[in-house]
Parts: sequence; C-alpha cells; structure tokens
Amino acid sequence: MARANRRRIPRQEMPKQDPEERIHNFDEVALGFTMDLAVAEANRCIQCTRPPCVTGCPVQVRIPEFIKALREGEMEEAASILKDTNSLPAICGRVCPQETHCEEQCVLGLRGEPVAIGRLERFVADWEREHLESKEQASRESNGKRIAVIGSGPAGLTAAGDLAKRGYDVDVLEALHKPGGVLVYGIPEFRLPKDIVSSEIEYVKSLGVNIRTNIVVGKLYTLDELLEEYEAIFLATGAGLPIMIHMPGENLNGVYSANELLTRTNLMKGYLFPQWDTPVKVGGKVAVIGAGNVAMDSARCSLRLGAEEVHIVYRRSRSEAPAREEEIENAEAEGILFDYLTNPVEIYGDEDGWVTGMRCIRMELGEPDESGRPRPIPIEGSEFDMEVDTVVMAIGTRPNPLVFTDAENLERTRWGTVVADERTGRTKVERVWAGGDIVTGAATVISAMGAGRVAAEDIHHYLQDGTIEPWWPEAEDGT
Ligand code: FAD
Ligand code: SF4
Repeated sequence: MARANRRRIPRQEMPKQDPEERIHNFDEVALGFTMDLAVAEANRCIQCTRPPCVTGCPVQVRIPEFIKALREGEMEEAASILKDTNSLPAICGRVCPQETHCEEQCVLGLRGEPVAIGRLERFVADWEREHLESKEQASRESNGKRIAVIGSGPAGLTAAGDLAKRGYDVDVLEALHKPGGVLVYGIPEFRLPKDIVSSEIEYVKSLGVNIRTNIVVGKLYTLDELLEEYEAIFLATGAGLPIMIHMPGENLNGVYSANELLTRTNLMKGYLFPQWDTPVKVGGKVAVIGAGNVAMDSARCSLRLGAEEVHIVYRRSRSEAPAREEEIENAEAEGILFDYLTNPVEIYGDEDGWVTGMRCIRMELGEPDESGRPRPIPIEGSEFDMEVDTVVMAIGTRPNPLVFTDAENLERTRWGTVVADERTGRTKVERVWAGGDIVTGAATVISAMGAGRVAAEDIHHYLQDGTIEPWWPEAEDGT
C-alpha cells in the first residue's frame, strides 16, 4: 500500500463498555481491538526508516517492527519483538501515557492523529496470552552472582527480568503478600485486570526470578545486611506514603488516603465484599481531592462501590490536571462531577466523629510557580460548604522511609527520594542502585521500567569488570 493511502486511513476507535453499564461493575472498561481493527490501525504506520516513536519509548520497544509483523499476520513474531525489550507489554498497552511518549513522537501526529501504538501493543500481548502456551524461558546458565531487588513494582520486575536473562540469580524481596506494586494495589481492576498482571509476573518468574513476598526490608533486614549476602542491590520500593494536606478535620471517620481506599478495594478485593473479607465503607456523597490518575481511580472506584455523587475537587483548571486525558474523559462520561479552581480548607464532622461536610474556597490562577504551572490563588471571601460524607485525599505520595532504616549513607532529597544518577541508577553507596518512583517521586509505569532497565545494564557492567566510576561531581574545593 502506498504511503499516501496509509495516511488516509482514520485512527481506529477501541470499543468500550457503555458508561451506564460499567459504573455498576469492576470489569475492564476498554475492550480492546478486534483483529480487523488492529490490522486496519497497523496499516496506518508508514514504517519510518528512523522511527521517532522508538526514541520516545523509555524501554525502546521496536515499534515499527512489531506493527509490521502484526499486519502481515505474523502474530507470534510480533509478540516476540515486543517481549524483546518489554517484559510487561499487556500492562504498558493499557496504562502507559503513550500520548506523551511514543505516540507524541509519531510522525503521523504532525498532520493528523498518531498511530495507536499502545492499543496495538495491548492487542499483540493479549493475543499471545490467549493463543500461546506460556513457555518456560529460563534456559540460561547461572553465573553464580546473587542480586537483591527490593520491591516488585514495574521498576523491580523489569530490572529483575533483565538481570535474570543475563544469568544472575535474582531475589525480589516484596513487603506485601502479592507482587506487582501499584499494578496490583493501586490501579483498579477496571483499568488493569489483575489476571493480566499475574500472567506478566509469571513470565518474569519463568526467566528464573525468585520472588519472596511478606519481606519488609528495613524491618526484617537492613540494606547493610543484604549487602553481605548479595553482590548488588536494586532499590525499587516506589513512593507509597500518602501526603496529607494537614487541614482541620482530616482525622475524622470517613476521610481516606487514596492509597488506603485503593488498596482495600483492589489488593484486598473490597469490591467483592462479602465474598472477600474486606469491607470498604464509602458514603453517598464523596469528594476526592486532586486530579491525577490516582484521584480519577479513587473517584471511579467510589462510584462503583455505590456512591451516588462523586466530586473531584482540584485547585487548578482542567488543562493543568495531571491525569491522562483518556482517564479524565472516562471519569466525565461516568458522571463524576469536576469542581475545578476549588480547594478544601476544613472538613466538618458530627458528634460521633463522622464526616458531614467540607468547607472549600474558590481559586484563581496566577503566574507560573516552580512547577511551571499557574499558581492557584485563593479568592478572598469565596468560601462555601459542600455536603459530603466521605473525603479521599489524592494529592500525592512520597517514598516510605522504612526501607532506609540504618542506611544513613544513602543520600536523599528533602522530598525523601533517593539521590541516584539517572543514566546509571547508581546511588552514592557502592553496590546499591535505585530507580522508579523512589528516585523520581510518583511518576509512570514506563519511566519506572526504563529506570529498571538502565540499572540492570549498569549492574551487569559493574559486576563484569568490578570497577565503578564515581558519577557525582567533585566538590568545588576538591574534597
Ligand atoms: P511501585 O509500583 O510503587 O512498587 C514498589 C514496590 O515496593 C511495592 O510493591 C511495595 O510494596 C514494595 N515495597 C515498598 N517498601 C518496601 C520495603 N521496605 N521492603 C520491601 N518491599 C517494599 N502510571 C502510569 O504510567 N499510568 C497510569 O495509568 C497510572 N495510574 C496510577 C494509578 C494509581 C492509583 C497509582 C498509585 C499510580 C499510578 N501510576 C500510573 C503510577 C505508576 O503506577 C508508578 O509510577 C509505578 O508503579 C512506579 O513503579 P515502582 O516500581 O517504582 O514502584
Ligand atoms: Fe509508524 Fe508512527 Fe513509528 Fe513512523 S513514527 S514508525 S508511522 S508508529
């Protein structure tokens, strides 16, 4: 097909569950491409010689190659190309912000809509899971060197898989009873079904990775103790500690951190209560504070858990909301109410200590602040009350400091994140690398995976030749 004809094919829409129906269930909202839709979409790719989409991908998926294999009907080949650089393609195809990575770089986006790379990735990964027997991958010889990966989120799983492929004996130490990090305890079933996460984790295990759950590093072992047992450590414990606003009324019953609400709902299967033993009490009127992916997930879970009215309360406007555009659109279609330019100042309760309302103030936007976004400024005298019985705080998270017990040498920033070189993942402690949210603060699945890949590469080089160049600049006085 000529390039000009390819450019005329419209971007294919992915079928979704109807909003009226889906707010009553936790089934996946997006239903995925059919083979016909996938081939039509794959036919749009003009197979650039120097594909910018690959440069936009933190793990450099060979995008035009897998798309070509797909449209030629070579599905097994397409799946193997994907897995070559991405151990978690069915997950990335669902939750990666492609619009700011590969798809943002796609040349078709210059004069129209980019190729739907994420949807194609999801299609190929799902096809593989449904059609191919999962194969035992570990065929390599062990090189006898042991590595501990702490945390089993996307950063840890990627590093572990890459190192196992190179012959290292990798133990992943995970605090929770299930591996997967935010993929299992945070992102809800209706965006990322948990059997898909399990099957991608099984693939990583099949590479020879040993995952040990219920191990809280910092409590059961310190980093120093692990360094005696392992040749290298990759620290990937994420940023799971909720940030609260510290306003009056935050300790009332009915106030959740998003982390608690989502963990109870997803990891502990609260949405299946009473078949599962985790009740989640969500009232009739819910206010979720924040407008990131976490806030959208909290609001949409609350709706599915039975709330009649759910508000997103955000101090800036829609254009500054950090959530993916697709997730904001999904929330809007489901009837979530958006109160932009609004900030909470106090939560009220009754004599039994339960939330009854929230006082808010209207905001206006001023000059950009240090984040580059317009600074929200309170409008004097604009306070008003909202009647709510549940408030969910989704304004951000930071690393949980437990893992740093007795690890004073590990330099951290004032936000509690670990200082590590982004090109290598090296921390200032020899034989300790770090990557993912623990270094960047709350970010994305694919950036965490990219950091895992970078660190695995550097650990391999270090353990091969045993030398390490200090990466941090010398102090000006030469000390
Ligand atoms: P995590 O996924 O946080 O994994 C860290 C792991 O370390 C956890 O399993 C934790 O239990 C474990 N751990 C912590 N402390 C210890 C300890 N002391 N000892 C042993 N183990 C420990 N990103 C996107 O790209 N798209 C999205 O749509 C999206 N939606 C999101 C929705 C929600 C609700 C949340 C919370 C995040 C979302 N993100 C999304 C962000 C993304 O999930 C994270 O950036 C990513 O998971 C970070 O990966 P990580 O491996 O660094 O850490
Ligand atoms: Fe295909 Fe777009 Fe990548 Fe070019 S930039 S190879 S058109 S996906």
